[in-house]
Amino acid sequence: MLNWEALEQTCKSCQKCALADTRHNVVFGVGPRNAEVMLIGEGPGENEDLQGEPFVGRGGKLLDAMLELIDLSRQRNVYIGNIVKCRPPQNRDPLNTEQDACIGYLRNQVALIRPKIIVCLGRIAAMRLIKPDYKITKEHGQWVEKSGVWMTALYHPAAILRDPSKRPDTFVDLKELEKKIREVCTHTY
Ligand code: SF4
Repeated sequence: MLNWEALEQTCKSCQKCALADTRHNVVFGVGPRNAEVMLIGEGPGENEDLQGEPFVGRGGKLLDAMLELIDLSRQRNVYIGNIVKCRPPQNRDPLNTEQDACIGYLRNQVALIRPKIIVCLGRIAAMRLIKPDYKITKEHGQWVEKSGVWMTALYHPAAILRDPSKRPDTFVDLKELEKKIREVCTHTY
């Protein structure tokens, strides 16, 4: 396991998959490194690639607003990362080979942060981290415990922007997340 400095340096010069050829920035992650809650998306989009930070642009603004509803923020108490750290061209889903190449960095981040709760944002992250046949429309908001970490998934902010009818379900899921934080976390609130 690498320490933060070595991990960040290794990621930022990584050439382990073809996404290195088209990226502008490696999007390493953002948030306090002692967070008890981690949010994990699938990979950077265009704005994220240009700015080097996860979940910026319209989807990022919506995510920040969702988090604010339950008193969370990337500045204060959640760490936000992605399954792959470089942007897949045209925002396609990251290939399994790309996920396989990159997932070790995320695992290293999880090992350093040791979160109590991991929230997958969208289907791809949930399929990778919770179970391969995860059905986001049916299973979002459900909780499983894996190796002492509580895990759930919410709809991806981009999916909520495309389909606002997902908002009420997401509100319920956020309230359940708040409840779980109060149950298992010690310094998030
Ligand atoms: S996506 Fe991950 S594995 Fe691929 S080049 Fe970027 S940092 Fe390396």
